[in-house]
Amino acid sequence: MGEFTTFECGACGYRAEHVRWGAGQLDPRVRFLPAVCHHCQKIVEVELTGRDILIEEFTCPDCGHAVLFFEKGDSYKCPRCRAPGLGIAQAGYW
Ligand SMILES: [Zn+2]
Ligand SMILES: [Zn+2]
Repeated sequence: MGEFTTFECGACGYRAEHVRWGAGQLDPRVRFLPAVCHHCQKIVEVELTGRDILIEEFTCPDCGHAVLFFEKGDSYKCPRCRAPGLGIAQAGYW
């Protein structure tokens, strides 16, 4: 089951809402992961459906630059100001 995730930085006020994380409730083949685009300095959701995270390169849906995926268990840094301790909350399922 996929979660909608909210990311919030207490240092600069950066906020990303409704970022899909995981596999779809209705169709588990549909997968999304949050990633950081350093070009846009923001968190974007990247669709992984039918793709291999280990061998493929993934790009920002907005600007086309390569992105870095979030991994559960990382200590999250704000994509805008790089402050550690980015707050993460779940806001429902998709
Ligand atoms: Zn920040
Ligand atoms: Zn971008």
